Amino acid sequence: MPNCPECTAREKKKIQAKYEAETLEEDRGRDDLFKLFDEIDIPMKLDSATKHFICKRCGLYATREQVSDIRYKLNQREKTREDKQDDYLEWWQKSKKEKQEN
Ligand SMILES: [Zn+2]
Repeated sequence: MPNCPECTAREKKKIQAKYEAETLEEDRGRDDLFKLFDEIDIPMKLDSATKHFICKRCGLYATREQVSDIRYKLNQREKTREDKQDDYLEWWQKSKKEKQEN
């Protein structure tokens, strides 16, 4: 059964916040975070009569296509945010270096 995309996205945010609160910045690794993400287990239930998946936690009711669609959209949003953070980090590190050189 697929994991509920809505609940998974919410859970990821929670896990990431906890990880960042508990792990020093220099000890953080994306792989560690992804490993924690892999442990998320919020399977949806299949309603065989209507061929829809149901999430008992948030009540999401969707076909397999809709589930993938929602997951894709949520991932896209996450990716855009990460790219922006990377840009910011790059800019920040560069400006820090420039400050040291001056
Ligand atoms: Zn859900």
